[in-house]
Amino acid sequence: MESEGGASLPSGPDAKKRRVTYFYEPTVGDYYYGQGHPMKPHRIRMAHNLIVHYGLHRRMEINRPFPAGPNDIRRFHSDDYVDFLASVSPETLAESSYSRHLKRFNVGEDCPVFDGLFGFCQASAGGSIGAAVKLNRQDADIALNWAGGLHHAKKSEASGFCYVNDIVLGILELLKVHKRVLYVDIDVHHGDGVEEAFYTTDRVMTVSFHKFGDFFPGTGHIKDVGAGTGKNYALNVPLNDGMDDESFRGLFRPILQKVMEMYQPDAVVLQCGADSLSGDRLGCFNLSVKGHADCLRFLRSFNVPLMVLGGGGYTIRNVARCWCYETAVAVGVEPDNKLPYNEYYEYFGPDYTLHIPPSNMENLNSPKEMEAIRNTLLDQLSRIPHTPSVPFQTTPPTTQVPEEAEENMEERPKPRIWDGADYDSDPEEDKHWTKFSNPVSQHAVKTEMRDDADGMEDEKPNHPPCC
Ligand SMILES: [Zn+2]
Repeated sequence: MESEGGASLPSGPDAKKRRVTYFYEPTVGDYYYGQGHPMKPHRIRMAHNLIVHYGLHRRMEINRPFPAGPNDIRRFHSDDYVDFLASVSPETLAESSYSRHLKRFNVGEDCPVFDGLFGFCQASAGGSIGAAVKLNRQDADIALNWAGGLHHAKKSEASGFCYVNDIVLGILELLKVHKRVLYVDIDVHHGDGVEEAFYTTDRVMTVSFHKFGDFFPGTGHIKDVGAGTGKNYALNVPLNDGMDDESFRGLFRPILQKVMEMYQPDAVVLQCGADSLSGDRLGCFNLSVKGHADCLRFLRSFNVPLMVLGGGGYTIRNVARCWCYETAVAVGVEPDNKLPYNEYYEYFGPDYTLHIPPSNMENLNSPKEMEAIRNTLLDQLSRIPHTPSVPFQTTPPTTQVPEEAEENMEERPKPRIWDGADYDSDPEEDKHWTKFSNPVSQHAVKTEMRDDADGMEDEKPNHPPCC
């Protein structure tokens, strides 16, 4: 393992073992956005499968998320939008009571109504809220939820394949006990939904690295810095096609080093959208898995409670590789480049390796532009006070927060925690989880073959290029 870290830790940069907790809903891979749709929840199951075959599940606690309830989701989203998501189905879609809302809630092509949609949102959000609860209780140092990271969802609107913003919900949960939360987004698309939610507060700093210019969602200009009390607490790093490991690292490390120094967050949330990898079906960057994971490696070195989430990622064999490797970085091991045999082995040919070489695409980000961006953002950071004084009373629910959290947990079904041992690559076991767990399974399970076939294709993006 590389060991250089950004923080000066008493025991050496990465010497300390981290307690890692991991959220995985076994039915998540069954959800299906529809034929030809680039967003494939199946990639999360592929990543999980690699994780298990590398034995990484033995180095962390494995949790099945409680599905987030409508009331949990209403902490950010509007009542009418949540009611709509919770009750709409492909069968009822044509009824006027639903169809008249489609435009308002931006549900349709990019964000289709598919079987079990709300269950998918509940699993994704439940994982991120659960991850926050673990960090809040100091039960873990790092909490992973690859089904999370759906950064485009707005208060009353679906966007870019995202319906419920699990990140905002997770951060709101963290704010119950943490004064300042840092959000970092390395998806190729701007983290607009999260930025917007916290644009006017200094309790959350958002930092997004993304392709900017004629690209979805169109926001994330370097001059968008936050407003009111939140002025200078939003950072945007606008980039061009062909971003490679070296250029990315040359921005990420100095900027985040300064962020950690100036802002001193009590918790960090990292959105690891994998559409910034080389060869992504919708993305246009040229990062290797190692270059992508270097962001996690660097943030991990600061030893601040860390939530790690998924996000975009549309060449699904590489998404699985990336999130598996990042799980290894989180637990602190270096896995063999040769992939172990696994249920989806055929996806990983012809090399069957964990790591992917970057392509020879041109890097349109010049050193001069990179330097200008770095200087602008370091200058912005120098304008915020060291450890901003945030009155803790302005938190969402405050004084009885720990108790509230307890109560909420009690209302939910009893936690299902398994150590992963009996989940070890047994396809029968997979079916077992699918059967009893989720109302979506009956229809969703049948889609698996089609889904796999879909994943194998390298379809040309016939979809609008967004995540
Ligand atoms: Zn994306």
